[in-house]
Amino acid sequence: MNTALAYVRSLLLLELWRGLLLTGRYLFDRKITVQYPEEKIPQSCRFNGLHALRRYPNGEERCIACKLCEAACPAACITIDAKERADGSRRTTRYDIDLFKCIYCGFCEAACPTDAIVLTRIFEFHFEKRGDQVITKERLLAIGDRYEEQIAADRAADAPYR
Ligand code: SF4
Ligand code: SF4
Repeated sequence: MNTALAYVRSLLLLELWRGLLLTGRYLFDRKITVQYPEEKIPQSCRFNGLHALRRYPNGEERCIACKLCEAACPAACITIDAKERADGSRRTTRYDIDLFKCIYCGFCEAACPTDAIVLTRIFEFHFEKRGDQVITKERLLAIGDRYEEQIAADRAADAPYR
């Protein structure tokens, strides 16, 4: 009986008609595809994009080379070297992040006691030369300097939930 029923169903192309009906239903529905890059969806203030190193308003680096971010990183993509300054404070001499290894988890940002390393909203970036994926301290500080206003606003918006 079941075989006969299946035979009749296949003869009437029932599965095909059901599929076409479903397609037809969505044909006149509201379109939800975003036409990137002309259109963009709203971003959360917690978006985990490209990293940046921040400074205090007086220009001093926030990073105190405690290496907590390096220890917290599950992908082992942060490399830090540090040296003591003449005034006794510790600062990094090298702060590299290998973006090919990074999984953008944000653990480095969460571990940082001075809000120095942060993940910005930047997600449109590329590399043109081999080795460019290792982002250096100078580049991280430059990103921080350029986007500080947005970074500070995002952290203020997110502060009540931390
Ligand atoms: S976002 Fe995650 S994987 Fe990337 S550097 Fe930070 S801790 Fe490591
Ligand atoms: S970025 Fe933050 S956690 Fe990492 S070494 Fe500097 S102060 Fe420590």
